[in-house]
Amino acid sequence: MAVIVQKFGGTSVADTAKIRAAAQRALDAQSQGHQVVMVVSAMGKSTDRLVDLAAELTETPPSRDMDMLLSTGEQVSVALVSMAIHEMGGKAFSMTGSQLGIATDSHHTKAKILTIAGDRIREKLDSGHIVVACGFQGIDPEGNITTLGRGGSDTSAVALAAALRPSQCIIHTDVDGVYTTDPRVAKDASKLPEISFEEMLELAGMGAGVMHSRSIEIGKRYGIPIYVRCSFNENPGSWIYTHPGTPRRPVSGAALLRNESRVTVLGVPDVPGAARTIFSGIAKKNVAVDMIVQNASDDGRTEISFTVQKGDFSDTLSAAKAAADELGASGIDFENDVAKISIVGLGMADTPGVAAKMFQTLADAGINILMITTSEIKVSVLVAKTDAEQALQAVHSAFGLHELGAAEADANPDYFQAGSGAVSVDDLAKELDTDTADRSGEHVEQVSMDAIRLHDGQSLVSIAGVPDEPGFAARVFGQIAAAGINVDMIVQDAGVGGKANIGFTVEREQLDDCVALLEKMTAEQSLGAITSRREIAKLSVAGVGLRSHTDIADRLFNALANAQVNVALINTSEVLINVLVSLNEAEKAQAALKQEFADVLIGD
Ligand code: ADP
Ligand code: ASP
Ligand code: MG
Repeated sequence: MAVIVQKFGGTSVADTAKIRAAAQRALDAQSQGHQVVMVVSAMGKSTDRLVDLAAELTETPPSRDMDMLLSTGEQVSVALVSMAIHEMGGKAFSMTGSQLGIATDSHHTKAKILTIAGDRIREKLDSGHIVVACGFQGIDPEGNITTLGRGGSDTSAVALAAALRPSQCIIHTDVDGVYTTDPRVAKDASKLPEISFEEMLELAGMGAGVMHSRSIEIGKRYGIPIYVRCSFNENPGSWIYTHPGTPRRPVSGAALLRNESRVTVLGVPDVPGAARTIFSGIAKKNVAVDMIVQNASDDGRTEISFTVQKGDFSDTLSAAKAAADELGASGIDFENDVAKISIVGLGMADTPGVAAKMFQTLADAGINILMITTSEIKVSVLVAKTDAEQALQAVHSAFGLHELGAAEADANPDYFQAGSGAVSVDDLAKELDTDTADRSGEHVEQVSMDAIRLHDGQSLVSIAGVPDEPGFAARVFGQIAAAGINVDMIVQDAGVGGKANIGFTVEREQLDDCVALLEKMTAEQSLGAITSRREIAKLSVAGVGLRSHTDIADRLFNALANAQVNVALINTSEVLINVLVSLNEAEKAQAALKQEFADVLIGD
C-alpha cells in the first residue's frame, strides 16, 4: 500500500480549529486507502517565540540547549493533532524524532539527517494508525536532540517519504503552491502548475522560503514527487519534480534574499591555494558561501569577494581575517546592507540574452548592481537592500512571470487535476520511472555528484576598472547579445573603491569578435582595460548537496591547490560548481577532482 506523507506547516496547525482541519485531511487520505504519515511543525509562530525567549537570557545560547528548546514546539503539535484524530474516531500515534528513528549528525541547530529507521513507523501504519511525526528534529549518535535548521520540517517530510517508498509527499502551507516569486512581496506573482527539482532547489537556496532547500535535494535524489498546496482551501497546487516533459522555461521564477553580507579579501597573492585558505576556514564554521568572484589578477594580486547570509557574518569575518593574515593579503572590506535578487530557469542557457535583459531592467529602474554571478540556470545580482523589493518586482514583470502560471495552467489542465490527489502514487512512479525500493537505512542527505565535466572550448574576457554605476553591465551585455555572441559565466565584483571588474566567458571562436566589439565600444564610451585569455577550460561539478555540504567547496579548493592548479573564476550554485582554469591545466585539474570526489561521484 502506498504511503502519503502529509506535511503541515506552522500556520496550518496554528490553533485547534486548524488542527482539526489538518486531522480531517489525514483521515480523508486514509479512507481513500492510503497509509498516512503526517509531519507537523510547531504551532503558528511558536518557534520564533522560543528563539526570543532564549535571546532574553543570552546572546550566545549553547546550541545543544537551543535544540532542546526548539524541539518542544513540534512535540506540542503532534500531541494535539493525535488527540484530534482520536476524538474524530481515528487511530493515531504521535512520535518524536527519536521515536521515529530519525538519526542525524551532531551539528546542533543545523543537523543533517543520516538515516531513518522505518520499522516502527511501518508497524504503526500496518496496524491502521495515522503516524503523527514531529518535523524538524532528530537524534544524534550520542542521543542528543537535534534540529535541522529553521524551516526544516519540509526536509523531515521528504526524508520520511524517501524512507517509506513508494510514497508521495504533500506539503500543506499558507499559500496555494509554488509561485513565480513570493506572493507576499509581488502581489501579481503567478502560481506554477509544476517546477523542476533543479529550479526549486536554486530558488529555495536563493530565498524562496516556501520550501526548505534540503528537502528538494532529497526529492531530486530519490525522484519523489512533491505537491505543494494550501491547507485552507481546495485550490490546485504545484508539483515539484523533473520528468522528460518538464518545461525548460528561460525563467521560471525570481527570488530575493534580503539579509546578505558581502565580504572582500583585498590584495590576495594570486597563487594556487589562496582560495583554499580563505574558504576552508569559512567552511569549517559550517557557513555556506555564495557569489564567489575573483577578479582578474593585477600586479600578481587579486581581490576575492563573496556573499554569506548576514547571520553568518561574524563567523565569516573572523575566518576571513585569519585567512587574510595567513596569506599576507592587504585587508578586508565588507558591506552589510545588501540583498540578492536571482532569476532561475532550466532553459536559460538555451536562450541568449537573459542576463542582459535582467541587467537592462535594473538599469531602467535606476538600480545599481553591486555584484553579479551566473550559472547555467541562474543569474544572481547583489543590490543595496533599499533597492531590493523594487528590483525584484521590476525583474519579475520584465520576464512576464505574472502571466506565466495562468498561461501554463490553461495549456495543461491535467496538472491541476493530478494535484487534487486523484493521481495514484503508482501512476506517478511509472511516469517518473523512479525505483520504489525500500531505502530506509540509506544516508538520505548525503552529497552525490553526477559528473565532473570538462568544457574546453571557452575563452575568458575581463574588463577592469568599470564605473560602478547603474547601466554599465546592461550596455555591455546588451550589445554583446545583440551581436549574437553567447556569453556563459559572468561575474562582476564588488567595485571596492568605486571601480568594479567584470569577467565572462565566450566560445573561443567568438572571442575575437567579442574583443573587437568591446574595443569599438571603448572608442565610443569609456569602458576600462579589456584583457582576454584565449585558452581557458571550464570544469563543471554537477550533483546534489554541493552547497549544503560546506566541506565540498573546501575539498574542491584543496584538491586544486594540491595539484598546483590556479583558479581563474569560480561560481557555485545548489546543483553546480563551475571552475575556470587554464586549458593546459584542465585535464590535471579534472583528474584531481575525480580522485578527490571518488567517494561521492556516481557518474562519469
Ligand atoms: P510553513 O510554515 O507552511 O512551512 P512558510 O512560511 O515556511 O510556511 O512558507 C510559506 C511562505 O513562503 C509563503 O507564505 C510565502 O510568503 C513564502 N514564499 C516565498 N517564496 C515563495 C514562492 N516562490 N512561492 C510561494 N510562496 C513563497
Ligand atoms: N518549527 C520550525 C521552524 O519554525 C520548523 C518548521 O516549521 O519547518 O523553523
Ligand atoms: Mg516552511
